[in-house]
Amino acid sequence: MSAVQSSPANGAAYDVVVVGAGLAGMYMLYRLRGLGFSARVYEEGSGVGGTWYWNRYPGARCDVESMQYSYSFSDELQQEWDWSERYASQPEILRYANHVADRFDLRPDIQFNTTVQFCAFDEADDIWSVATSDGKTVTANFVVLATGCLSNARKPDIKGLNGFKGPVYHTGNWPHEKIDFAGLRVGIVGTGSSGIQSVPVIAAEAKHLTVFQRTPNYSIPARNKPLSAADRAAFRKIYPEVRRFAREEARNGIYTEVPDRGALDDGDNARRARYEARWQYGGLTFMSVYNNLALDKAANDTAADFVRGKIAEAVKDPTTAKLLQPTTYPIGTKRICIDTDYFETFNRPNVTLVDIKADPIQEILPHAVRTGRKDYEIDALVLATGFDAMTGSVAKIDIFGRGGRTLNQKWAEGPTTYLGLMSTGFPNLFIITGPGSPSVLSNMIVSIEQHVDWIADCLGFMRARGLATMEAEPEAEEKWVAHVNEVAGATLYPQADSWYMGANIPGKPRIFMPYIGGVGPYRQICNEVAAKGYEGFAMTAAARPQKAAAMP
Ligand SMILES: Cc1cc2nc3c(=O)[nH]c(=O)nc-3n(C[C@H](O)[C@H](O)[C@H](O)COP(=O)(O)OP(=O)(O)OC[C@H]3O[C@@H](n4cnc5c(N)ncnc54)[C@H](O)[C@@H]3O)c2cc1C
Repeated sequence: MSAVQSSPANGAAYDVVVVGAGLAGMYMLYRLRGLGFSARVYEEGSGVGGTWYWNRYPGARCDVESMQYSYSFSDELQQEWDWSERYASQPEILRYANHVADRFDLRPDIQFNTTVQFCAFDEADDIWSVATSDGKTVTANFVVLATGCLSNARKPDIKGLNGFKGPVYHTGNWPHEKIDFAGLRVGIVGTGSSGIQSVPVIAAEAKHLTVFQRTPNYSIPARNKPLSAADRAAFRKIYPEVRRFAREEARNGIYTEVPDRGALDDGDNARRARYEARWQYGGLTFMSVYNNLALDKAANDTAADFVRGKIAEAVKDPTTAKLLQPTTYPIGTKRICIDTDYFETFNRPNVTLVDIKADPIQEILPHAVRTGRKDYEIDALVLATGFDAMTGSVAKIDIFGRGGRTLNQKWAEGPTTYLGLMSTGFPNLFIITGPGSPSVLSNMIVSIEQHVDWIADCLGFMRARGLATMEAEPEAEEKWVAHVNEVAGATLYPQADSWYMGANIPGKPRIFMPYIGGVGPYRQICNEVAAKGYEGFAMTAAARPQKAAAMP
């Protein structure tokens, strides 16, 4: 049952319009309903799940362990859902998203197959107009962008791509039916996380796989395995502490040991033993072996050397091994990948690695990929070329704020926000996991839940006090942007040409977009801002009567 469908008193159709029904939009709707707000969610896809709806490529799975990469807001939910593997596959995560939508009866307030194209703030009435691809326009007091950080698949601009005669697939917008690569010569462009996950699976099926690599990535074995009932039970017992730690203490929202020393505090043998133990354990926590890997280049080099050594051990052909070893950026400064047999896959006779840094792709021919030196004949092409990250999906919507200025105009030199939650000049417009918040540097469900809770609490606060508008103050935004840059500048992260920096998109301004101060400290900052009456946000009273407050 949809909770509240009455219109707000000021004539807007909804209290809140939410854009996107991924994990963020779904939880936002749940919270809004709980507070008695009327809400409408628009979703471009035909189902819920966002990332897990679109990224159906072979091998797609989460890289944060499923017992942690899951909602924590409902204890019943986390106790009843049985994850079958340490890292769930995309179909299982999509089933989970659908289960959540059904369990909390979210669908009645979600309009699928509908893209939000345009949002404009009417300064006279303090109301947003929201125009959608079905030709309709609705009004709302607030808009929440739950559009996702990795939801705008990036198709590379390669000469001749449209003339390719075989099928072309993008990992971030994969067909819903099973694609059969058996007997085909397949080319894959891109060796980021999606490429690294899909290469072993496609290689096992295809007649031949040619991997076109521009930049090699550091990847750690996932050591994925089935979870037994006993594994899940053991984890569930410690859930309260796991969730608390992830929210309050972890830098990245993941439960792990807190390292008590730096990499150079150990001698060679002890250090190697620690790296080896974590390598055998598998997964993203490899970067938590020491506390200074993101800060100190010499420390970082020890971890990078270790991983390069592992690649050399795994790959039989020394030339291929060398090409697969990253050398041009510190480990961890691009999102570290985790894999199942990625490097070993290059020992297969049906897999070829092509270094397109040294020998760039010139064009796509009807049946081949042409580099400067050779034509590689293929029957199907997979683009694992990632996303216009963090800002890409927001930028696709025409968002008009005060004075008719668009968000794209404001962000032309790079996105600026206060706390990643709001941008000056755009009142009553919230962003979930926006640039300037920990977002992609974290277990994103931890960050999503924190943002949603903060926004929901804020809306309850405003309603209880008859407040109509909220907007980031310019000074607060400037200070926050400076802080985000200062914190990033103290780390090794800006040394990599990563999508964190917008470096994968030609012409995109190079600024470090996520907040690297850690999810625990960030949460504390957000809580303090709220406790001080939303310090740094200007709030104005309603010009006309608001609905009576219905606090939970
Ligand atoms: C392959 C892959 C694996 C990942 N694995 C992990 C992991 O292990 N751990 C982790 O923490 N994070 C992971 N992520 C990041 C992941 O994106 C987040 O964890 C999380 O799913 C984001 O949820 P979201 O709702 O914010 O965004 P999304 O899931 O991206 O959902 C946004 C939704 O908004 C919709 N939308 C966008 N614009 C519009 C519009 N204008 N109108 C209507 N609808 C619109 C989109 O269609 C989409 O469904 C992964 C990402 C990818 C791509």
